[in-house]
Amino acid sequence: MISNRKFKIKRCIYCMEHKVFSRKKQYSQFSTEHVLHEAFGGFKNALTLNGEVCKICNSYFGDTMDRILTRGTYEAVERFRTGAKSLLEFEDFVEQNIKFFTKNKQPVLNDAPAKLCVVDNQLKIAFVPHIAFEQKHKMEWIRFNEQELLNSTLPDSDQLTGNWQILANTADEEEKIFSLVNAKGRNITPTGTAIPGIVPVYAEYRIDDLVKRALAKICFNYLADIMVEKKYPEFLFNKYLDAAREFIRCGIWAEHEIVEPKTEPILGLDTKSLRQTNGHLVSVELIEEHGKWKIQGSVSLYNTFDWKVNLANHFHGIQIPINRGHHWNISSLNCSSMKSVQRDLTVNVWQ
Ligand SMILES: [Zn+2]
Repeated sequence: MISNRKFKIKRCIYCMEHKVFSRKKQYSQFSTEHVLHEAFGGFKNALTLNGEVCKICNSYFGDTMDRILTRGTYEAVERFRTGAKSLLEFEDFVEQNIKFFTKNKQPVLNDAPAKLCVVDNQLKIAFVPHIAFEQKHKMEWIRFNEQELLNSTLPDSDQLTGNWQILANTADEEEKIFSLVNAKGRNITPTGTAIPGIVPVYAEYRIDDLVKRALAKICFNYLADIMVEKKYPEFLFNKYLDAAREFIRCGIWAEHEIVEPKTEPILGLDTKSLRQTNGHLVSVELIEEHGKWKIQGSVSLYNTFDWKVNLANHFHGIQIPINRGHHWNISSLNCSSMKSVQRDLTVNVWQ
């Protein structure tokens, strides 16, 4: 490492390029990377990496995977529910990876699209305003929202039974749908059947590669924080970490899955549904599986969905303790080390 008083040459843990690091932001080619994105809460003692992630990688991550994780996922909904993000900024939410729909025995109310919205400064679920037509010889009703009424053709009347239902939340929305249908030449008359009572709503959460990369990055960042603490940052350039690094940085698929659902909750005494905290949990462990050493991360935002991150699948060559976990407590807004992880466990593995 070349250094003088003001500058150091350091290496970015993601692109692996050597760049200039300075404590003074304007001279540095590195920027502060939060191990867990700040969008999930402003925590005391939050873990940050300074001089490990370059500005180019940092801003690429911010514009892509972190943007989706913080705005278009189940975790993004939790940010509003827990107050990490104000409902006044609800317009930032995008229903990209999460979809809401109704479940009901009556076909007309089954699989009707719903949406998250803010009413009277409260998070609510509402219908996506639309009209549903009963189809002949089919259980499912066919549905058209505003956009679809403008852009697509309605099915021939002889394919429909003549029963229809507008699903909307207000009289204005109902009127809008009604007039769009009539503009299509379907002469329907409002019958006063419009808004039904309470209907169960389900959410479908699709974890795509961008979300997986964002989750993997949290664990990789966390491993980096451990290694900086151990004063052994060179470890992060280990070839065993390349598959995870390339997946995070470029979305390149490895031979093994980098991010997988974790079958057990992260905290020992938690069950699938009974959790001791709704804070964020991240840990990294060196584990042995079938005679092979692996570096495995775990991450659970809001301690709801648990993910296993395979940071290194076949690993040789370290004799320092690596097991550590942190809890981002969303009630006290404090970030602290998890006591249940054996911090002092040293595993000797030789090359
Ligand atoms: Zn970089």
